Amino acid sequence: MRRTFARGGVHPPQRKELTSGVAISSPAPPAIVTIPLHQSIGAPARAIVKAREEVACGQLIAEPGGFISAPVHASVSGKVKRIAAFPTSIGPSVECIQIESDGQDTWVPDVNLGASECTAALAKSPEDLLATLAGAGLVGLGGAAFPTAVKLRPPPGGKVDTLLLNGAECEPYLTADHRLMIEEAPGIIAGLRVLMRVLGIERAVIGIEDNKPDAVETMRAAVDEIGGVSVEVCCTAYPQGAEKQLIQAILGREVPSGKLPLQVGVVVQNVATAFAAFEAVVRHKPLIERVVTVSGGAVAEPKNLRVRIGTSLEDLVAHCGGVRGELGKLIMGGPMMGKALKSFDIPVVKATSGVLLMDEVEAAQVDEQACLRCGRCVQVCPQGLMPCDLAAMANHGRLEGFGDGADCVECGCCQFICPAGRRLVHSIRFGKSDYRRLKAAEKRQGA
Ligand code: SF4
Ligand code: SF4
Repeated sequence: MRRTFARGGVHPPQRKELTSGVAISSPAPPAIVTIPLHQSIGAPARAIVKAREEVACGQLIAEPGGFISAPVHASVSGKVKRIAAFPTSIGPSVECIQIESDGQDTWVPDVNLGASECTAALAKSPEDLLATLAGAGLVGLGGAAFPTAVKLRPPPGGKVDTLLLNGAECEPYLTADHRLMIEEAPGIIAGLRVLMRVLGIERAVIGIEDNKPDAVETMRAAVDEIGGVSVEVCCTAYPQGAEKQLIQAILGREVPSGKLPLQVGVVVQNVATAFAAFEAVVRHKPLIERVVTVSGGAVAEPKNLRVRIGTSLEDLVAHCGGVRGELGKLIMGGPMMGKALKSFDIPVVKATSGVLLMDEVEAAQVDEQACLRCGRCVQVCPQGLMPCDLAAMANHGRLEGFGDGADCVECGCCQFICPAGRRLVHSIRFGKSDYRRLKAAEKRQGA
């Protein structure tokens, strides 16, 4: 049975054929990396190295800056060039550690890049495994970048019974997870078992959209003899890979408004995060690289690249033959939820699943007009919201009734379908942060 979520959703052009058949390649490490200290949800990490210090690949260079935070490691060996603010996808001025590579790619001791046997690692205690994942700087690689170790610690009284491994990859163009499932299935499954052991649970489900039949087949073969683990096929629909929608589609559980998946006994992790867990525990390798899809009509050779964190988009695109024709738009992430960028001088971070170079046709947008009150945005909202009204409230500062807006997952379905070209997500995002500020101020005044 093919599963899907209960309401809303859209079917944007997939364009995955540009890279779905392109095997992951690993270009040589770049001459210079710029590694942001703020790469996850929560507090930025704190640098523990100084300019001109020699570092090895995989060396800890920044410690977590709070409970919700993740450490950062050197992604090349060489010398720290400087620690300063650089433009990143998070903001125009984010503290980064820039390292000049010595070209040797010398790793810290203990890292065993060829290891694959996981029996000994899986015999470790859940606490030891959790400490390893935290120390390796793992964050959710599906785009949210929430520190993995924090997500794997349910609050007191919280009971998790199922791990949902997200292989939906519903964003158009992106195929990094698809290729990883085909090429690294044993590692993903080993990582899945690590995550299950940490959570102390016996059940896991891997959700994959039906536009990736080869990944479904490969992952089913990989879980064949593992009790309690199954692969479920979902319809190709956006946003099938959003946490709440995937939980609803596969487990039939509804995460209540304002609550987290933990509330319904579920932890969701991305397939790439599971693979990173395998590398951390079995290979002792911290999170210093990831697979990124580089695609779009304006890139000469679309590819899936395994690249070091801190690699500039300029280097990334050079590995793909450069820009072809007129560039309409540069996006980090997918076309539905990604961020438009103005420069190639931006580093890849842990959350970078894709880099899209859209040509002028792909990037074309309808000129913004007044709302037609057609209701299409309401029909497609998977969260059951009224996007047109939320955007109007946000635009006019009428935030008293904005409460429901907190449930917006910023999927972009409303904006995609709007015939009037309304920039709904942009407005709602501002509305959400204004509403949070308003509520915090009210709380302070009432205190
Ligand atoms: S209002 Fe939010 S959740 Fe609903 S379609 Fe728009 S972006 Fe998605
Ligand atoms: S889809 Fe666009 S035009 Fe139609 S109601 Fe929503 S905001 Fe208005």
